[in-house]
Amino acid sequence: MKVLWCWRCQMDIPMLDEAEFEQVMQVYAECRRGGIKASLPKEGASINDRIAALLAPVCAEYTRLTGFPETNVNAVLHHRLSLFGPPCATCGKPLRTPQARYCAACGEPR
Ligand SMILES: [Zn+2]
Ligand SMILES: [Zn+2]
Repeated sequence: MKVLWCWRCQMDIPMLDEAEFEQVMQVYAECRRGGIKASLPKEGASINDRIAALLAPVCAEYTRLTGFPETNVNAVLHHRLSLFGPPCATCGKPLRTPQARYCAACGEPR
């Protein structure tokens, strides 16, 4: 785990390394298979609330690994170190992808 600037969330956030991400994905797969009993929301909850409840263990696993109380599964899924590039030589923020040719934060070419 390493704290990096996330351009999607516009904040510093713990990013998972490959081993940690793999652990989270196992929980994710387990949830989708229905292997983990989730506490389902009450009748009439929106589909998004239901999905969030079903995938709550994914956020819990991320929180266990990082100590950060994340509640949004979509955020967990993009907080993976390997999705980001190396830090920009000018501003120090990570490039948006490993293939990025310039820094989207300050506009400098890498
Ligand atoms: Zn993010
Ligand atoms: Zn930069």
